Amino acid sequence: MTFCAVAGKAQSRPAIPRDAAIEAKIEKTLASMTLDEKIGQMLELNLDVMGAYNPANPAAGWILNEMMLDTCISKYKVGSILNAPGTRAQPVEKWQYWIRLIQEKSMKHIGIPDIYGLDQNHGVTYVQNGTLFPQPINLGASFNTELATIMAQVTAYESRAANCPWVYNPTIDLSRDPRWPRVWESFGEDPLVNGRMAAAEIRGYQGDDPNHLGKYNVATSVKHYMGYGAPFTGKDRTPAYLSPAMLREKYFEPFKVAIQAGALTIMANSASINGVPVHASYKYLTQWLKEDLNWDGMIVTDWADINNLFQREHVAKDKKDAIRIAINAGVDMSMDPYSVDFCILLKELVEEGAVKMSRIDDAVRRILRVKYRLNLFEQPNTGGKGYEKFGGKEHAEKALRAAEETEVLLKNDGNLLPLKPGTRILLTGPNANQMRCLDGGWSYTWQGSGAEDLAEQYNTIYEALCNKYGKQNIILEQGVKYDETGSYEAELTLEIDKAVAAAAGVDVIVACIGENSYCETPGNLSDLWLSSNQRDLVKALAGTGKPIVLILNEGRPRLIADIEPLANAIVHIFLPGNYGADALANLLAGDANFSARLPYTYPKEINSLANYDYKVSEEVPTMEGAYNYDAKVSLQWPFGYGLSYTTFEYSNLSINKREFGPNDILTLTVDVKNTGNVDGKDAVLLYNSDLIASIVPDNKRLRDFVKVELKPGEVKTVTFTVPANKLAFVNDDGKWTIEEGDFTFKVGRLQQTVRCTTTKVWDEPNID
Ligand code: BGC
Repeated sequence: MTFCAVAGKAQSRPAIPRDAAIEAKIEKTLASMTLDEKIGQMLELNLDVMGAYNPANPAAGWILNEMMLDTCISKYKVGSILNAPGTRAQPVEKWQYWIRLIQEKSMKHIGIPDIYGLDQNHGVTYVQNGTLFPQPINLGASFNTELATIMAQVTAYESRAANCPWVYNPTIDLSRDPRWPRVWESFGEDPLVNGRMAAAEIRGYQGDDPNHLGKYNVATSVKHYMGYGAPFTGKDRTPAYLSPAMLREKYFEPFKVAIQAGALTIMANSASINGVPVHASYKYLTQWLKEDLNWDGMIVTDWADINNLFQREHVAKDKKDAIRIAINAGVDMSMDPYSVDFCILLKELVEEGAVKMSRIDDAVRRILRVKYRLNLFEQPNTGGKGYEKFGGKEHAEKALRAAEETEVLLKNDGNLLPLKPGTRILLTGPNANQMRCLDGGWSYTWQGSGAEDLAEQYNTIYEALCNKYGKQNIILEQGVKYDETGSYEAELTLEIDKAVAAAAGVDVIVACIGENSYCETPGNLSDLWLSSNQRDLVKALAGTGKPIVLILNEGRPRLIADIEPLANAIVHIFLPGNYGADALANLLAGDANFSARLPYTYPKEINSLANYDYKVSEEVPTMEGAYNYDAKVSLQWPFGYGLSYTTFEYSNLSINKREFGPNDILTLTVDVKNTGNVDGKDAVLLYNSDLIASIVPDNKRLRDFVKVELKPGEVKTVTFTVPANKLAFVNDDGKWTIEEGDFTFKVGRLQQTVRCTTTKVWDEPNID
């Protein structure tokens, strides 16, 4: 066996090259600051504490209380404010006015601008009449990183139109547990897809130079670092238990990529990993992020999460103890929405020596650095003239095109789709005629609820199909509706019989089923099956004998195994945003072609949850003899699955080396041909398998993907580049290793086997 020496722990090149002029300014500002001013910079308050709705005249909207604002800024020197009043979208002019006022007061009393933050996750969530794109899970399904860049560019522009320079996005928690209510907020279950999409969004949000953001750029906060999407209970903000290998190899990976792509800030995971709350972990926050990756950005807590260290996690005895633990672990800014206690308690901790002045200076440097990089000192305000594209046609067109590329065709028996002009359609199901479920959470409001008035100008599926097929051809009879006054799961009295009766004169039934909008903890569930009402609706409709198209409008894969066989066609649209119904109408009519693929594994049975990269020993043939052991992975649809109106054929998979070493670059090519009759795009996925390894290998891993567009008959050669060190895994000692032996690469059914000639083991991090 050839074995090369264990390489030592290498420090990464600086994630963002330092700008000497900015560093000098930071030092100068820091030198002039009092301890109170430094600590104030480290606090982020919720805007709600600085104003209210007038109960006598709520229509006048939320009113900023200038005296409260003054106190927060002049007395407590607060450096950051977040959120929308009552978590509801506000007019762009109001945002300009409020943030301008905040900046004026900040410059006057502290001489340092505020950094205002909003959850603008798939467009400008909190700005009325802005553009909402498909949610991140949809972008993941597109396997097209360009769409992520475009979404982020538009969002940055519109955010700055509202004078907001900081967004809490991208979200790259791996959505590997379908029960978790935040599955739809990230790009799916795969680390490579999440990392690539995050890097593409960071480019779109921040521009090309992370030291000098322009007036159409915003700083990102990549979240929620890390392991948040793997709660053991499936419930939001509950503990994850992850092996060191799983954590480093999969959950950490997209964050590493995001940091190397220039992410300026990171938001920490609210919950714990293996019993350690991330907000209390020096290892995860300081060593892994700041030291190993040589990253000089800023870490902000999630909502009230220092408080959670004593109130929920019980690792601190009181708030002061919690602040000590979190700041010493590496938190730079505390999102402590409703209280300024942080300032008082942290000052005491510094005076008592429990938090060193050097840690405070480090945190404040990082905060100032983001503000300088955003050019907020020179230009604290943006918006107004120069932002005329806000919410306009150009952005709408981009959101529509993105939506078309993110809806997945899962079944099309007998080529039921596309539906010809003049088709008479029964449109049914709770998701058939409301915007809320198309947009999902983080759409005008936190939960996406109570905001239909703000999305009125966009088309529901009913409206979009009427536009496409003529109102006379669409019968709307929903059968089951959501109860908008209840939880996201609440449904209203059933009218299934009416829907069945309405099917009599139609050619096809389009059943729009799924979930109503939710976000975070209110979206927890106790049963992954799609509601029984909705499944009963589909079962009753199947009795009519009419062909059924299921439209799955949901933020996570709800089980539908009993109704899947009853459908002739199935389209999974996830949460496609304000133009999602128009996109669907184009796709159903064949005016656009499907090209998306599942970014997560769609489970079939509640006790058979799996991810695509399961260990080989999770799927084994039946053993011979008395004890017929076996293991089966049973799925509804695999990760990466998706059909099109055309067909693609792969040929000539080739690789530049039959044998390779750990430092080599592998280049693979494959020819892709459109063998059907219409134009189409194909996401070509390259998988690899490590056949024998010292710990049980994953059955396969996605190593590269490329999206190509082809006319009928056209052939394109796709090139994949895979550095051999990317084939490594984390071994039982927590070290990266690539081992001598055979590896296969697969594209579709084509396969090539190559051999690694040398084993290499090295320490964290796996640097590019
Ligand atoms: C969420 C974050 C969000 C923050 C600020 C928290 O509840 O977990 O994703 O960015 O609130 O709104």
